[in-house]
Amino acid sequence: MTAQLMTGTDLARETLERAAERARHLEAETGVRPCLATVLVGEDPASVTYVAMKRNRCARAGVESRHVPLPAATTTEELVAVIRELSEDPTVHGILLQHPVPAHIDERAAFEAIDPAKDVDGVTMASFANMAFGHDGFASCTPGGIMRLLDAYGVDPVGQHAVVVGRSPILGKPMGMLLLARDATVTYCHSRTVDLPAVLATADIVVAAVGRPEFIKGEQLKPGAVVIDAGYNPGNVGDVDFDGAMGRARLVTPVPGGVGPMTIAVLIDQTVDAAARQTALAAASV
Ligand code: NAP
Repeated sequence: MTAQLMTGTDLARETLERAAERARHLEAETGVRPCLATVLVGEDPASVTYVAMKRNRCARAGVESRHVPLPAATTTEELVAVIRELSEDPTVHGILLQHPVPAHIDERAAFEAIDPAKDVDGVTMASFANMAFGHDGFASCTPGGIMRLLDAYGVDPVGQHAVVVGRSPILGKPMGMLLLARDATVTYCHSRTVDLPAVLATADIVVAAVGRPEFIKGEQLKPGAVVIDAGYNPGNVGDVDFDGAMGRARLVTPVPGGVGPMTIAVLIDQTVDAAARQTALAAASV
């Protein structure tokens, strides 16, 4: 068996085109241009690249980006103050704090300084609760992008055994919540899981979010499974042994070109949503 590739590049392009159209419409109707504030602490080269990519996509979609670079020695209190100021600034509609932040910073405190109405990266506890309860709100971008990919490829999670390997607050945990909200039977696996291969062998949908190159092997997959590789390791390598998965699964996301492009597309899409909601609210309160 050779699996079908589940690519994110076309879907991401379409998502960005629709977001750009909505941004143009909002600006024409109200004069408001959506604005994403990007906050970067320190100069970690990968983070610098990610922020540059996100700002580049913003520009292409007609979304303004306001970059706030901060020195690596920034304290939690200073970072929280900067983010609170952006939360209160009516000309900023979305806030992205590039993570990971340096180890001395309390990342959770910094995330929680983001007004949930501007949490277009879906990192606050309020956004997590909305995902868990199936309420309106902003999804964590990578899990949100994965749900859109599943929909685009006609994968209905209802009743499927979805195994999420990884439980980080921005990826694994919200991923499981979004799948649960769509009636999948969800199992979380992590570093303390006993006998991961036994769990994987029963998975109809696997989401790999571990951060270890080719950690999940083809022979561990249930034949015909849908395999989403959210991992991104040095050298453009995912968390799944790609060739092995292609020989065993039904659908497999490539790395790169699978989940990655969707993450940025969801970020921009949600920024336009945030601008539209805030503009409507401001108009209603006049
Ligand atoms: P993370 O915070 O380091 O979390 C990794 C998770 O993997 C943890 O929950 C950990 O379990 C689990 N894990 C580690 N070793 C394991 C093992 N031997 N067996 C089972 N589980 C194990 O990483 P993350 O931020 O979620 O990122 C995960 C991957 O996704 C990385 O490759 C990252 O680059 C990628 N990523 C991609 C995008 C994108 O846009 N494509 C976005 C974000 C992240 P414990 O909780 O028990 O420690």
